[in-house]
Amino acid sequence: MKPTQEDAKLLDHQDVLSKYQDEFYLVSDQIYLDGNSLGLCSKRAEKTFLEMFESWKRYQIDGWSNGKYPWFYLAEMLGAKMAPLVGAKKEEVVATGTTTVNLHQLIATFYHPEGKRTKIVANELDFPTDIYAIKSQLQLHGLDPEEHFLSVKSRQGRYIDEADIIACMQDDVALIILPTVLYRSGQLLDIELLTREAHKRGILIGFDACHSIGAVPHEFHQWGVDFAVWCSYKYLNSGPGSVAAIYVHEKHFGRVPGLAGWFGSDKERQFDMGHAFEPSTQAGAYQLSAPSILNAAPLIGSLSIFEEVGIESIRKKSLSLTRYMMELIESELQEWGFLIGNPMEDHRRGGHISLEHEEATRICKALKEANVIPDFRAPNVIRVAPIALYTSYQDVWEAVQRLKLIMVEEKYKAYSHERGVIA
Ligand SMILES: *Cc1c(COP(=O)(O)O)cnc(C)c1O
Repeated sequence: MKPTQEDAKLLDHQDVLSKYQDEFYLVSDQIYLDGNSLGLCSKRAEKTFLEMFESWKRYQIDGWSNGKYPWFYLAEMLGAKMAPLVGAKKEEVVATGTTTVNLHQLIATFYHPEGKRTKIVANELDFPTDIYAIKSQLQLHGLDPEEHFLSVKSRQGRYIDEADIIACMQDDVALIILPTVLYRSGQLLDIELLTREAHKRGILIGFDACHSIGAVPHEFHQWGVDFAVWCSYKYLNSGPGSVAAIYVHEKHFGRVPGLAGWFGSDKERQFDMGHAFEPSTQAGAYQLSAPSILNAAPLIGSLSIFEEVGIESIRKKSLSLTRYMMELIESELQEWGFLIGNPMEDHRRGGHISLEHEEATRICKALKEANVIPDFRAPNVIRVAPIALYTSYQDVWEAVQRLKLIMVEEKYKAYSHERGVIA
């Protein structure tokens, strides 16, 4: 049956999360579908940001230990709040640094090439920064990436087959680093299976959860995932460049941080100011510096929404939104040469839709002009993410209607093929 606008109305009516739309700063008449790249600002994030700013004014140096959110413990406090999103224990997560810095830290910590086991496995559809970090870490060990870096190939340019990853798990592999969800196609990898298979072969495995945190629940602890990183500015709506996170399974507590910094110290000893590093016995050990308090502050407010709603109901609505959108695309846009380039099955799909079209660049420009905000990934992908906390089913309906009009009236032809610097 063709999905209709009536379906959208009914689904909105039944939606227990619909009230959260008012918590976000939405622009009137605009449909924002880029929350997988930069999440929207919420009133709660703004509130905790302002509270933190105020605590600097009011408490000065004493803000480290006083006020509503004492700064000295903020990274661990936020880690504990993020832990349920990935199925971790409180002490296994810390909010710190940025995704790329954290990747460097964890590769430096977990990659110890020995004898024949020297290779790091990633995949050819990976986000570039992950690859840069891996290759530069190999070079720091004096190893040539040509020889020691293994990139799992995609069969059709969209997905990475778990079987192909497992086939790469040979006895010359030391470490595997994979995304939970591929940033372009939105494929969700089978994290549990890959972790089990890696461990059977004595290989450590870590995940970059930037594209799933806040959209897809995980069970990192139970699955035995060795480590993970993620940012907080996508589905977690914490603001551009806001603080990222590190997860380390408790079985690895006590592993010496590859990169040491004073904020990784055991908190009781940090201010002894000794020159012999005494790291924390939890994930906090992998921090480097004094936390960026102001850039972590919005996360406090933002996470309070996730705490209230629960990641399971966010996932449920997200899957339902993307399913409705795919059905609409198939019924409304079938004549216009779009191809859905994300997995159809719920258990293989992240939070966004990947629409392929040879005119993707120009269509994205026309969509923006029509007040629908997508995001373009060269050469031919339009990513659209209806977000559980602030996108309604009627928004999805309206976005697809606006896209249809662009195709019917060939409005995209008025734009150039060049992509912007930020695409
Ligand atoms: C967004 C994203 C990053 C971002 O890295 P930063 O260091 O926070 O700029 C890294 N990896 C993946 C997979 C991402 O989606």
